Order: sequence, then structure tokens, then C-alpha cells
Amino acid sequence: MPAEPRPSPNLGPNDRPVPPEELNVGSGTGISRQVKPDVPVYDTESPSVPSAPKEMPARFVCYQCGTCVATSESLVDSRDDVVVFSRLYCKDSGDRANRTVLCPDCESAVGTRSEGTYILRRERVEQRLERLEILVCSLKQQEISEVIPVLTQVFPHSHVHSKILLKAELRGFQFTGPAPDLVVVVHRNEGRVLLTDRNGFYHDVIGAAWQQTRGNVLVVLTKTEPKAEADLFDTGLLRSLSTQGDQPTIGAISALGRVLTWGSAPSTPQLQQLLTLTTTAYFREPPGNAPGLPGHWIVKPTSKQAQAAAWCALL
Ligand SMILES: [Zn+2]
Repeated sequence: MPAEPRPSPNLGPNDRPVPPEELNVGSGTGISRQVKPDVPVYDTESPSVPSAPKEMPARFVCYQCGTCVATSESLVDSRDDVVVFSRLYCKDSGDRANRTVLCPDCESAVGTRSEGTYILRRERVEQRLERLEILVCSLKQQEISEVIPVLTQVFPHSHVHSKILLKAELRGFQFTGPAPDLVVVVHRNEGRVLLTDRNGFYHDVIGAAWQQTRGNVLVVLTKTEPKAEADLFDTGLLRSLSTQGDQPTIGAISALGRVLTWGSAPSTPQLQQLLTLTTTAYFREPPGNAPGLPGHWIVKPTSKQAQAAAWCALL
């Protein structure tokens, strides 16, 4: 749980992977699902469309692994060699006896705590001012064109890039170029849905994205309405793919709240989930447990101490 309030009042309280049955975030709000034509149109003034603020606080991230340790919202002093914060963005896991502030993910030492302030060393944290970098991948340009306005609406403080995937390059896929914060894979449901595992189109794409973004991945399936208004995805379809379709991995991803299926446009609960996922990616929160995913997808950063210990063991 972050140590400070999130910047958007629209965000849900969920910081953990949420089982599908608990993802009914929009139910009971009285907001009815709008039936949209093929091209989604969003009313930017509508209070029912969840969105992040146009400007977001700067992130101070661990130099070693990129996890957000503090934000400009709690910055109280900036000196040549240190930056001082009134609180951390991440959970302060240190005990009182130990004044060292550790990165919550890789456990690198990033600074010290002293009487309610956190003094982070400039060479241990990197200030990031840039927007959320989103990469949208699909086999079809139309799916990319339709999802980009949704993402920029939900998280205006973002740059969205896109990549049309070629079927010939899907096996053994590797990303090149600057690493995005969030990868969105969009697939149009045109019959047999082959997403992950042995016969899935996107298994290696999602795996490479998972490694590169440390789990900040979203899979969107279009032309597939959820069966219940508050659901994030067609639960029957995902269960069938996972248990009978030889695609357990997409089931595991959906259990993390990272699969959305919609007909032509997302529902309000799905927009809310998009906001949660984009905000999580922006703040580079430590990845949670991801049961059921291929083990090599999970990249655990190693701290300088761990690296030093490994060297000592080798020598
Ligand atoms: Zn770290």
C-alpha cells in the first residue's frame, strides 16, 4: 500500500492482484453502460469517465530497478547531493533501529530516514518527469486506432506509441528501442481465440512485454462483450480458454485484472480498471505475486548487495 494518497480521487483501493469475482468495481453506481457505435466517442466533460489528472507528480525512482520510491508531492527540500521527502510513495518497510531506506523491490539502499523525513541520495534515485510511455501492439491497425483514444482519455499524461505485429515475427518476439512503462496487446475476436501458450499468437509478445515492464501488461480482446455489465471480461470465455483451450496463461493474466474484453468500447468498470493499471504503471509499483505465469517472465531485480554477494561467492 502506498504511503501517501494517490493523486486521483477516481482510483480504487486495490493494490493487489484481484480475483475476477471481486472486480465488480462499477456495480451499484447507478451509471448505466452506454451502447456505443463502432467508433467510440468519449465525452471528456462527463464525470462518469474515470481519468487521471492532466499533470502528474514527478517520480523519484530507484536507480537500480526503476520502482517509484517517492514523488514530488512530498518533496520538501532539494540539495546538491540529496532530495528530502516528508513521506515515501512506497511502503516504508524499514525498522526503527535501521535508518537506511531500502528500495521496496530490489532492496538497494537509497537513503536514510531521520525524524519523519526521508533523505534520498541523488545518485541512488532518478527523477523522472516524462509521461507514461504506453506501447500498443496488435495485428490490426484498426484495433490500435480504436484503443489509443481510450488510453489517452483515461491517462492524459501519456505518450502512446503503436506497433503493428507481423505474424512471422511473433515467435521468439523481442522488443527493441526504449522500454515502455505499459504494453497493451489488442486482439480482435474473430472466431477461435488463440492468445497464449503453445498455440497462442501473443505468448512470446506478452512474455517479452512482461519481462520488460515487470508485469505492466494489458491484454484487450475486442468484439467480445462481457456477459455481465460489471465484469471486466467475458468470464465464461476466459475460463474455457484457460481450462479447456490449453491456454492457462491467459487465465492467470485475467486473474490479475489484466485482461479486458469489450464489444466496441469499454464499460465504466473497465475504464476504472484502465485507470488503475495506467496509474500502477506510471508509479512503477513493485510487481505483486503472479501465480500461474511462466517462471522466466518474472524478472527479479538484484540489488548491489546481492550482486556483491554473488561476486564474493564466485571468487
Ligand atoms: Zn530498486
